[in-house]
Amino acid sequence: MKKVGIIGWRGMVGSVLMERMRQEGDFQGYEPSFFSTSQAGQAGPEVNGTVYELLDARNVALLSEMDIIVSCQGGGYTAEVHPQLLAKNWAGYWIDAASKLRLDEDSIIVLDPVNRNVIDQGLAKGIKKYIGGNCTVSLMMMGLGGLFAKGWVEWITSQTYQAASGAGAKNMRELVEQMRLVGENAQDYLDDPATTILNLDRNVIDTLRNPAFPTANFGAPLAGSLIPWIDSPMDNGQTREEWKGVTETNKILGLAPGTIPIDGCCVRIGSMRCHSQAFTVKLKKDIPLSEIEQAIGEHNQWVQLVANTKEETLKELTPARVTGTLDIPVGRLRKMNIGPEYLSAFSVGDQLLWGAAEPVRRMLKIALEYIG
Ligand code: NAP
Repeated sequence: MKKVGIIGWRGMVGSVLMERMRQEGDFQGYEPSFFSTSQAGQAGPEVNGTVYELLDARNVALLSEMDIIVSCQGGGYTAEVHPQLLAKNWAGYWIDAASKLRLDEDSIIVLDPVNRNVIDQGLAKGIKKYIGGNCTVSLMMMGLGGLFAKGWVEWITSQTYQAASGAGAKNMRELVEQMRLVGENAQDYLDDPATTILNLDRNVIDTLRNPAFPTANFGAPLAGSLIPWIDSPMDNGQTREEWKGVTETNKILGLAPGTIPIDGCCVRIGSMRCHSQAFTVKLKKDIPLSEIEQAIGEHNQWVQLVANTKEETLKELTPARVTGTLDIPVGRLRKMNIGPEYLSAFSVGDQLLWGAAEPVRRMLKIALEYIG
């Protein structure tokens, strides 16, 4: 029986991965082992009635017995352990949620509803590193996959509205903590309907600007505000998150770097775990909206066209609606008044599911099928 080692299973991405694997009955047909960098020897997760003892995630000899390793542990761990495995001539498959190996020449960014052909070619060529993509990029490609598949895209700008979860569990807590403080401090004003709106507004802004307001993780208030900066700076004025758009999209599609130009502004907002994006797509030619809708809607089973009406938008196209589901609604679809080749669209997706755990979960199944 093939052996699969799972590391990072109790982290945020790893927990969502475990939840999905249980839902889908994925723990079958192979022998799983669970590793930890801090809890070796302790009881790990229960799977199909067995409680697995945690193995040491730094024990390279043990790891090298695995046919497939799935890591949701983080880039530091990958940087530390993956080279040691290679030094032992380990020939297994490394499937990773971290970005560390994403742009290596001999790695594939996995998003099989979009690039199954690239994955299959990679397996056939003997590539062993399969890495989940950046959440924003994966969610864009799930939503607009039909346009890419048709070869209609000349370029895209994407303005993002990204959730707290993309920054980690501590940041999710900090956002809710900020919301609590705002609500608590405003309570008297809210309870008194006679309060003028300017007094309520002043109260909220006083809370946000109070030096004691909890911003240790985000570095600025997010509740009642936003932060137009995600990740580290690049030399060209982009943030790394913005740079990933063009870099990863082309790699996912198996295209040469920069073939399809993509750029935009990535913004953190007070959503818990859904990223949203507003797209301007420059099409290569004037394509009727009905054909565009068909191409997008038929591309994969998770994308869901939302009629460009207020009722449908409020019902279907919000983080509150989409969170915790695999749905990728795409709406606000219309030709822009700039010209008939310019398309506007808006999409929402759960960044821990299609943005992180789901492509990794599916890649494990693909790799298991491949090695038989
Ligand atoms: P995380 O929640 O910080 O978990 C990583 C590890 O931290 C766990 O596997 C666990 O490892 C350890 N840990 C220590 N204290 C813990 C606690 N109280 N609860 C749970 N785990 C604890 O990391 P993550 O956000 O899932 O990210 C993992 C990787 O996925 C990163 O490379 C990240 O960049 C990437 N990624 C993240 C997202 C996202 O939205 N968060 C999206 C795509 C990719 P031990 O058992 O070994 O101690």
